[in-house]
Amino acid sequence: MKPTHIEHIGIAVKNLDECIPFYEKILGTKCYSIEEVKDQRVRTAFFMIGQTKIELLESTDPEGPIGKFLEKRGEGVHHLAFAVEDTDTALNEAKEAGIELIDKQSRKGAEGLKIGFLHPKSTKGVLMELCCK
Ligand code: ZN
Repeated sequence: MKPTHIEHIGIAVKNLDECIPFYEKILGTKCYSIEEVKDQRVRTAFFMIGQTKIELLESTDPEGPIGKFLEKRGEGVHHLAFAVEDTDTALNEAKEAGIELIDKQSRKGAEGLKIGFLHPKSTKGVLMELCCK
């Protein structure tokens, strides 16, 4: 896989509009993008810290992945996203290394990135996302 850096950290929140001013205050930077990703049933807000982003995720559907996460675990860190050169190549390499994949192929995520998730069952309980431009 050989990620080049942590592209973003995904944090599940109950209410995006309430959380944005809080994060703007503690991070000392403005939210630069709010985007709905229909496919994943979320609204996202992004903050840039160096070359890494914080991605806040609000559920738009209680039955969606973030809706279920909030129900089970409450607010908090949801996933780590690694920047890789090519998402599909990295997914194949992970599969060959015996890691269970959530996405067999990359799909389009927020900010137009090509993303794919690894299953936390085979990554020591951490939901990992691979992404590239
Ligand atoms: Zn993400």
